[in-house]
Amino acid sequence: MRQFTLSTTRREEFLDITAEVAQAVRESGLSDGAALVYSPHTTAGITINEGADPDVKRDMLAHLAHLVPNRADFRHAEGNSDAHIKTSLMGPSQMVPVSGGRLQLGTWQKIYFCEFDGPRRRTVLVQFLPSAIAAGEDQ
Ligand code: ZN
Repeated sequence: MRQFTLSTTRREEFLDITAEVAQAVRESGLSDGAALVYSPHTTAGITINEGADPDVKRDMLAHLAHLVPNRADFRHAEGNSDAHIKTSLMGPSQMVPVSGGRLQLGTWQKIYFCEFDGPRRRTVLVQFLPSAIAAGEDQ
């Protein structure tokens, strides 16, 4: 397993971590299998979505804020229940297929770290899951 850290700069933002994950896969030597990209945090998740038009992540953040406003009647004393809920909506991880040592993302896909209670220093774990099929065997 590998990990990297990042610093978020706003309370809520999506950071493109595709290059960091691809680098971790290269360093692992994994050729075929999958990479599990995992956020070990309760107020930050991982998602995969369009990376070409920055308005997509802006619209996603705006709609999540609309879906989950920071309500005064939330009971959690830390005051960040909206961040916990948005994190569960996004989920803590994404699994990306790897073939020939490369992430098999679609043309428009990027991997995003989803910060909902920043700015903070955060960690991302990348766990490699090799294919059970031995090299050279056909599927
Ligand atoms: Zn909390």
